[in-house]
Amino acid sequence: MARINSAKYENEIIDALDVDDDYDLFLTYKFKCPECLVKVAFNRGINYKDPHFKNWPKVKHLANCEIFRLHELNNHKDNGNVDIVISTILPRADRNKNLDSVEKIRKTIKRYFGERSRRFLNSLVSLSPDEIQNLELRTEDKKTVRVVDLIMRQDSIIDRLDSVDDSFVCIVKGFTSKPIRIGDNIKIPMTFGGKYGNSKQFDLFVPASYYVKNENKIDKIINKLIYCYGIPEKNKYGYKMDLYSITHQVIILEK
Ligand SMILES: [Zn+2]
Repeated sequence: MARINSAKYENEIIDALDVDDDYDLFLTYKFKCPECLVKVAFNRGINYKDPHFKNWPKVKHLANCEIFRLHELNNHKDNGNVDIVISTILPRADRNKNLDSVEKIRKTIKRYFGERSRRFLNSLVSLSPDEIQNLELRTEDKKTVRVVDLIMRQDSIIDRLDSVDDSFVCIVKGFTSKPIRIGDNIKIPMTFGGKYGNSKQFDLFVPASYYVKNENKIDKIINKLIYCYGIPEKNKYGYKMDLYSITHQVIILEK
């Protein structure tokens, strides 16, 4: 049944990962669906690696619950991964705003660009274009978003960065070119002006402290059409998306 990453607890919306960190502090019968307020159960997931909330035994979400509606919408498909798509990475990540401290960035990387994002990207590529068109997710700030709106070309990302101040999460779809070393950092420019229809320069950027971890994987994603999941930004050098983990943030669409 529908898995969700946050629940209502007393007057707060709490995250399953926070419950996992401090399990003893919570009264587990008090978790509720953030939308329809029926009781939900905390679960640590396979190998204790995927904390989430799921239906309390024999308790269904109410008929007008948005989470229930989205679950029903996506659940008729054969692909077992769709359920993961509904309920994990993006709803959490879309909440994520204003990365203005080292501590927040560290937390973000740990939570949003780990195993869940890898599974999320894998499930996206396993869906048909039709399924992707129809796939909707619920974010923790109670917005229903379409996955197709989160998959963006670099030109539209740049337009959005130029027009809004808030940071946002998206999946850039583009073609990578030869990496360039800048000090101890690596920049991977996306192609533009060519057959993929992008006109503006956009780079993936592996910060120096993440280089060693990704060193052996960089070559594998060069000259490929990819999805890269992350937070785009504009700085004095141009437009970029930080790449902390190739394994978890990137998936190759065409080899
Ligand atoms: Zn509900």
